[in-house]
Amino acid sequence: MEWSLDHNRDLVRPRTFKDILGHERWFESLIANLKQERGTNSHQPIALIGCPGVGKRTLARMYAKALVCEQELTMRSDAAPCNICHECRAIDNSSLAFHEKDARTVGDNDDDDRELEKAQAEAVHTLIEREVGLNTASVRIVLFKNAEAFSSSTADIALKTLEQEITSTVYVFTVNDEARFSGALRSRCNVYRVGPISVADLVGRLSLICEHRSVPFDEAALRAIAVEAAGSFGAALAIMGRVERRGDVTIGNLLRLSEFGWGSAMVACWEALLEGRRDEAVSLFEAIGADGPMSIKAVQAFLVECRIRQTMGTVPAAASVSPALDCLPPESWISMFGKWRASCQEAGTSVDEEIDRALCFWASVKVGTPWRAAFARGCEVLFRAGEFIRAR
Ligand SMILES: [Zn+2]
Repeated sequence: MEWSLDHNRDLVRPRTFKDILGHERWFESLIANLKQERGTNSHQPIALIGCPGVGKRTLARMYAKALVCEQELTMRSDAAPCNICHECRAIDNSSLAFHEKDARTVGDNDDDDRELEKAQAEAVHTLIEREVGLNTASVRIVLFKNAEAFSSSTADIALKTLEQEITSTVYVFTVNDEARFSGALRSRCNVYRVGPISVADLVGRLSLICEHRSVPFDEAALRAIAVEAAGSFGAALAIMGRVERRGDVTIGNLLRLSEFGWGSAMVACWEALLEGRRDEAVSLFEAIGADGPMSIKAVQAFLVECRIRQTMGTVPAAASVSPALDCLPPESWISMFGKWRASCQEAGTSVDEEIDRALCFWASVKVGTPWRAAFARGCEVLFRAGEFIRAR
């Protein structure tokens, strides 16, 4: 079973707005907005802008429930919905109170712009014109996900509706890519930006989830997952689910996933290279790059980490280059640098110089370049000075 928010909704569902937003500065204005809307029954459309996985959809649903919840606002903590009254449950269970459309996948033929546009327009029309009053709540919520994918004519249709007075519907647009979102639509909305979740916050949430389910975990493993997820709760859960398929959430199991496990292979590859075992280095590099662009990104990250370690002696947690490299024990680095220094001495160069040369080359390699060619060229560049000694 795929691990996802949906399958574990009860367990991981944020209960309050602060669970999603932390202490975002606009939290208060969102709550003020909510109070005013409940009071006046006039609903300003909302645009929630932020990277995928930061909780925009969850926030939209929570806002919808908070609007219709039967419990008095003053009785609730942070204006959060009670989640148990009739109206709250209606949002969870009924398609009448809460409509959701994905602007990207509306229509079947994504390849054909005209078809997509037509399907978008139809979907927007349908949602706008559908008879209200079928649900018991005084308001229904229409959520358009990935609203930056609206064609300009679809955005126009939505805009015309928004310009009429709306008392029965709240329109919510979630947007991943702000630059592509219709400026006209945006100007009609209350805009809120949902930021990425901090590593510490993600670690806290993941550890709670593990504790609830009695799944043993290493804090270091959760931290590596949080860094890799780059502020997305959804992405963090997906990674944790994959680790759990291999057992507990430990560093050992984490290293069995390709995006975390390549660190030790990268160091072994580099050592093989330094010691002139070119074929072995190539096959280690191939194993890292089983999925294409990864090998090139891996060597770039590895060299950045080498540069930091050469300069600072260690890599501070805040300067983490890649969780896969964070997972390596210090001895691996000491051993690798020892070999590198010995090899440079023989060739009459310095480690600093070689790191710079390699970094300069690998930073210029475009993702999608055949890895074998890039690797061969990288070796030439790196060992030009000491080639006669090490390219045997
Ligand atoms: Zn309620």
